[in-house]
Amino acid sequence: MTDKSWLNTPAYVGVSKISIKGSPANRLFFVYRTLGCEYDKSKKGCTMCNFAEYASPEITGKNLNAQHNQALELLGSGGFEHFDLATLGNFYNDREISPETRRQLLTRLAGAPTVKRILTESRRGYITTEKLRESKACLRDDQTLEFAFGYESSNPKIRNEILNKGVPEEHLDQAMQMCRQAGVDFVSYVLIKPPQISETEAIKDAVETAIHVLEKAERYGVYARVAFEPVFVVRGKPIEKLFLSGNYKPPKLWSVVEVLAQTAERMGVVNTEGKLFVGLSDENLSGGRKASNCGFCDKEVESAIQQFNADQDVSKLKGLHHKCKDE
Ligand SMILES: [Zn+2]
Repeated sequence: MTDKSWLNTPAYVGVSKISIKGSPANRLFFVYRTLGCEYDKSKKGCTMCNFAEYASPEITGKNLNAQHNQALELLGSGGFEHFDLATLGNFYNDREISPETRRQLLTRLAGAPTVKRILTESRRGYITTEKLRESKACLRDDQTLEFAFGYESSNPKIRNEILNKGVPEEHLDQAMQMCRQAGVDFVSYVLIKPPQISETEAIKDAVETAIHVLEKAERYGVYARVAFEPVFVVRGKPIEKLFLSGNYKPPKLWSVVEVLAQTAERMGVVNTEGKLFVGLSDENLSGGRKASNCGFCDKEVESAIQQFNADQDVSKLKGLHHKCKDE
């Protein structure tokens, strides 16, 4: 008999600060072990993501509810206001998460008193306005549902050729329209430093993408925020080959700081009031495979970025300095 208890164990759990529309909050980042992303079947999906490695074809709704018990226990003990209900794929794909399980997970979150906001994520093809509406209806009236979308870059060459996202621009428009109709808030993931572009181009691309998303959301009348993701090198995907052959380096933490500063400047604000977030979880990968600086200032700059996630104040970031910054 094989031990199946790992099917009841989440793929990843992390804790960080975040801002909910300008108020500092605690975030629990919980990645449920699921069947895996349908788009990444046989590793033909996005070139920087290896979530499929943590997936299992045996996962059932029962396993997901067992994982959910652990999430609820953590939520109950930690005073978390924000919950990332992340999966190894698409929360709204019925073949990955059944409608019944989806309802169960969300309905049980309505009983978590401190939780004010719940993030869910999916490709555009799996959502409908009706699904979003039904999901939101499972929550309490004072809870916000977020739909997070892996748009990554407003440059179609980066998004669809380099990253192989298979995401046409109209998916962004459609997702925003559906969110507005369903009363759901919108989140866009934006990568910092996809492969094949320079550090300087990467900063520019991330800033352009963030501004593009925020402006488009405003036109559609939907509340939106941007979750930046400094790229880290995962195992078993094309990005690892580039990294091992010396053709890719993860971004400098200084570039992350620069992206935040420039985006805030383009927004015309000093405090971004919860509109920007930086995901620094790296699946426990060791140094060298994730965003870093010279080694001496890494800790200081990383904790300043964590602090920014809570207080949203870019002036503090601008005050950071170390000699390696000028490089
Ligand atoms: Zn340094």
